[in-house]
Amino acid sequence: MIDLHCHLDLYPKPERVVQECVKRTMYVLSVTTTPAAWEGTSALASGHDRIRTAIGLHPQLAGQRKGELSRFRELLPKTRYVGEVGLDGTPECLPYWHDQVEVFESVLRACVSVGGRVLSVHSRRAEKEVLSRIESHPGAGKIVLHWFSGHRRELQRAVDLGCWFSVGPSMLHSKNGYNLVAAMPQDRVLTESDGPFAMYQGRSAMPWDVEEAVRGLARLWQLPATETNSQLMLNLCTLIGKDTSPSESG
Ligand code: MN
Repeated sequence: MIDLHCHLDLYPKPERVVQECVKRTMYVLSVTTTPAAWEGTSALASGHDRIRTAIGLHPQLAGQRKGELSRFRELLPKTRYVGEVGLDGTPECLPYWHDQVEVFESVLRACVSVGGRVLSVHSRRAEKEVLSRIESHPGAGKIVLHWFSGHRRELQRAVDLGCWFSVGPSMLHSKNGYNLVAAMPQDRVLTESDGPFAMYQGRSAMPWDVEEAVRGLARLWQLPATETNSQLMLNLCTLIGKDTSPSESG
């Protein structure tokens, strides 16, 4: 199982969540919301090769934390993964929209300058604006749009730009989300929990709740669960470059 977007450090007992992920041999991308959180969060994954820690600066914190951009650039060479980053166009985030744009553009430029990264990107109510920035920074790396909830035509633009998608259980449970997932290329879809922020069955989602997303994808793709899991593993290998490209490492 794969959880490509999870906030491990924000669970009340992160070590226990890590232990459970290890027990279940899960692949986890542990995203962070500030550069200051990266080292401590990386330490949680220490010795666990299937858990990777992304360095992020969440759009909702762009106003308060843009001073940490220099820390972001300093730490970036230490990881191949960036997230959570992006833009948020909901009304409560609009007062610091300019900070969000400044942070996101500077993150993308930094990724270009280090030769590209795998990025987990937030685009709620700002899909068009996120896609424009991605388009203007082609060397930033591989973009995984997390919990994409835009319109169908924006999804198509994202597909055309080469974006990937990480999909959680609740996305597959809503009609709109389901239709979007149905339009995503099967070879560019991964699963995510977005725990502990996202809710599942009335509680914080856990990384292993991606199992429900796998079931949803299996129904949608009309594949047995084993083949759905194989497709997702193949996608992960392609995304992180473990299959055919010996030039990539780490
Ligand atoms: Mn998140």
